[in-house]
Amino acid sequence: MKTPNPIEHIDYWQKNEETMNRIALESLQRERLMNTLRRAYEQVPLYRMRCDNAGLKPGNLTIPDDIKRLPFTTSDDLRQHYPYGLLAIPREDVVRVHTSSGTTGKPKAVFFSKNDLDQSATLIARCLIMTGTRKGDTLQNMMTYGLFTGGLVMHYGAEKVGVLVVPAGPGNSDRQIALMRDFETTVFHMTPSYALYLASILQERGIDPRRDLHLKRAYLGAEPYSEETRKKIEQIYGIDVYNSYGLTEMNGPGVAFECQYKNGMHVWEDHFFIEIINPDTGEVLDEGQEGELVLTSLSREAMPLIRYRTRDITKIISGTCDCGRTHRRISRILGRSDDMFVVKGVNIFPQQIEQVLMGIKGVAQNYQIVLDSYDHLTVNVEISIGLFDGNIEHLLQLQSEIADKVRASILVKPKVELHEPGSLPVSEGKAKRVIDNRTL
Ligand code: ADP
Ligand code: ZN
Repeated sequence: MKTPNPIEHIDYWQKNEETMNRIALESLQRERLMNTLRRAYEQVPLYRMRCDNAGLKPGNLTIPDDIKRLPFTTSDDLRQHYPYGLLAIPREDVVRVHTSSGTTGKPKAVFFSKNDLDQSATLIARCLIMTGTRKGDTLQNMMTYGLFTGGLVMHYGAEKVGVLVVPAGPGNSDRQIALMRDFETTVFHMTPSYALYLASILQERGIDPRRDLHLKRAYLGAEPYSEETRKKIEQIYGIDVYNSYGLTEMNGPGVAFECQYKNGMHVWEDHFFIEIINPDTGEVLDEGQEGELVLTSLSREAMPLIRYRTRDITKIISGTCDCGRTHRRISRILGRSDDMFVVKGVNIFPQQIEQVLMGIKGVAQNYQIVLDSYDHLTVNVEISIGLFDGNIEHLLQLQSEIADKVRASILVKPKVELHEPGSLPVSEGKAKRVIDNRTL
């Protein structure tokens, strides 16, 4: 039986950049920020208009203090200026487009120059080396290939390191398992919800990943998940799980990534300027306070974005990290501000419920939250097949344990419905955890 592999020695892809002292790093940020602002002002009419309206000229700003005076960019700006309105380079210098699904209306298009692509692959290479992946490893990429960045951006980064990439894409679990066996996959990249689902398929097929496969680590991201889910996945597969954060607007994966200490995700601050704001007022919060992450790209050529509101709720973790990297970390994303829902006047993030569920013995891999009214919620939970043993007492006990523990965490007692494994819907991409049937 395998146990998770510690990383024997610390290694870097770009040691100078990753361990640069804070003074040098901040001065590099200032220089790149100035350059980005100047290009945005000169090339993108929206930025020019906004700066002019605010009476700001890139040349006159004191960086970084004055950045607080610049207006935010929102996902609506990307939609309204779809497709080419925010482009800062000639159209013929664009070599790739990715889009982000969003929920309604037009997609958001994000463009890459050749240098942008190279840069995004370099940042992924840093992340892989940071977490112990090396030439000789086999990475099975189970994220969607295509307009979503999780496929191609990870792919090229892994190739840069010299890893053998299996571009499997998501779904078709039996084929995934066959690929893992044939190519002796050591690393995989997928959503946490798919990792949980695949675990249930492996169990059904009688395959013990710790015994029968060669997995060492996984990069999980694209959707929020709790520490409990990480532990559960690590335990089932016998691997190390690293949290991976990114968004299409900032290249996709490779914006922030955990190092071997798994204590927050290092944001590559030489390429992204980070702020945390109060999502209601836009006010910039102090380091350590929880709020919405705002990102400014510092090196993107094709489509620089200034003070982009991610909607993701997190906080900056201060202090140095034992891995030697000087880039600050952000904590696990609590959720998107628009994922938060209110029941009985209480603000709730799906992840708070997930955290409770994944810590309860007998709870299997999938769950769903259904909102039918403003004072009530239902949690549908898949439980281990062994619990359907004809003893109704066990089911009732588990049901009330779940309801009580959820109430202790979110202060609202849910109705709990237990389901057999595999009976709740699964999606190939990001999981849809909340079904909101409320009409108002
Ligand atoms: P969309 O989901 O809007 O179509 P993206 O594919 O660009 O677009 O997804 C980016 C979003 O996914 C982030 O803004 C964040 O909400 C979520 N996300 C990505 N990685 C993580 C992670 N590790 N933890 C939590 N949420 C994440
Ligand atoms: Zn670290």
